[in-house]
Amino acid sequence: MSAALGSAALALPAELDLAVIGGGVMGLATAYNLALLAPALKIAVIERSYLVSGASGRNGGGLRMQWGDRGNVALMIESIGLCKRLAQELGINLWFRQGGYLFLARSAAAEARLHRNAELHREVGAPTRLLTPADALTIAPHLCAEHLRLASFNPEDGVVFPWPFVWGYAAKAVERGVLLRTHTEVQGVSPAGDGYRLDLSSGEQIRAARVLNATGAWSGHLNRHLGIDLPNHPHRHEIFSSEPLRPFLDPLVVDLDSGLYFSQSTRGELVTGISLPELVGYRDDTLKQHSTLRFLTTIAATLTALMPITAGLKVLRQWAGPYDVSPDGDAIVGPSPGHPNFWQICGFTGHGFMMAPAAARLVARWLARGEGHPMLTRWDPSRFLSGAAARREDMIIG
Ligand SMILES: Cc1cc2nc3c(=O)[nH]c(=O)nc-3n(C[C@H](O)[C@H](O)[C@H](O)COP(=O)(O)OP(=O)(O)OC[C@H]3O[C@@H](n4cnc5c(N)ncnc54)[C@H](O)[C@@H]3O)c2cc1C
Repeated sequence: MSAALGSAALALPAELDLAVIGGGVMGLATAYNLALLAPALKIAVIERSYLVSGASGRNGGGLRMQWGDRGNVALMIESIGLCKRLAQELGINLWFRQGGYLFLARSAAAEARLHRNAELHREVGAPTRLLTPADALTIAPHLCAEHLRLASFNPEDGVVFPWPFVWGYAAKAVERGVLLRTHTEVQGVSPAGDGYRLDLSSGEQIRAARVLNATGAWSGHLNRHLGIDLPNHPHRHEIFSSEPLRPFLDPLVVDLDSGLYFSQSTRGELVTGISLPELVGYRDDTLKQHSTLRFLTTIAATLTALMPITAGLKVLRQWAGPYDVSPDGDAIVGPSPGHPNFWQICGFTGHGFMMAPAAARLVARWLARGEGHPMLTRWDPSRFLSGAAARREDMIIG
């Protein structure tokens, strides 16, 4: 298994067609899809640590069609469709469970969002339905319905276990000829002809005709080597998982008003996180992946109020990871301003995991065949220069 999942000792050629920097879900899924489409390309993924060390190994594994924007709903219908076949395609158990997402609204503003979005979902083809508080209790019977005004439910939404998802893409990419070098940091990037020279922590220098910056919340560090100024930035998020419990909860529940979310994994653990908006702006702190008591006390109060049977729940693991936040909540994907051969696949905020199957396929088609797509136009890194980035997705959690 470890040979299939990359190595710190793997020899890299001096010249590559594409260097993917970052071995998270975005880098690996794109490399895999590109290797399928263009097997002759010499592609390497270079990861500075172990796989799943970044956000892709630290997230809640939630996948949903319930978004506030038409393009995002359509993309997630496609991504969830791909996920249904992915276990077979990647040959690994993803622990994919479609228990639905149950969104709760306890304020008039949240209620209005659910109404607006449910209509949009129906138009695009997602089977979301609005529920009264009493109906919501039939889906999550242990909820406290006090102050609950409305809920929305989509049975097609679900959860996966993130690690095998990443490992599956890694193993299949390697099987298709992608070179996967782990524990090697890209410490410098400089223009070399039409391509780039990469300085690696191993002391090697390699040249790549094209580079894909798939370093997520760390992408700004690499961009600075080339003077590329993009507005995405890291934002630290915490999450915990509990002792295993007997199955009692099918959907992933989101309380729109507090930003609390929780689901029960197939192994019985309750996996839960919450927004701590006051952490925004702690720029120096955002990439530190430590846990805090403040998160634990905040989430304990909100969770036990909404789901009283969780009082006394034992926390087994608590961890943090970075969102790679873009100002409009949309990803930043494609050639960089002023650097047509230095591509970005960043800025996926709190939803990169669920979008990876569809997004990586779009980017691979673009790289291999120059094929466009409305989402790629929308994700254009140059939109921040032209002022085209105006709308903000209103269903971002955390
Ligand atoms: C607590 C939390 C909960 C979340 N919940 C969800 C969810 O339920 N659903 C969902 O869809 N998304 C969720 N997300 C977001 C999701 O995890 C991310 O959008 C997604 O994993 C981003 O993938 P990535 O490959 O871009 O980044 P990452 O997985 O962070 O990968 C980037 C990689 O680049 C490497 N790297 C950095 N710098 C260098 C360098 N110089 N050289 C070489 N390698 C480098 C890093 O080590 C890292 O492995 C959550 C995130 C967090 C933190």
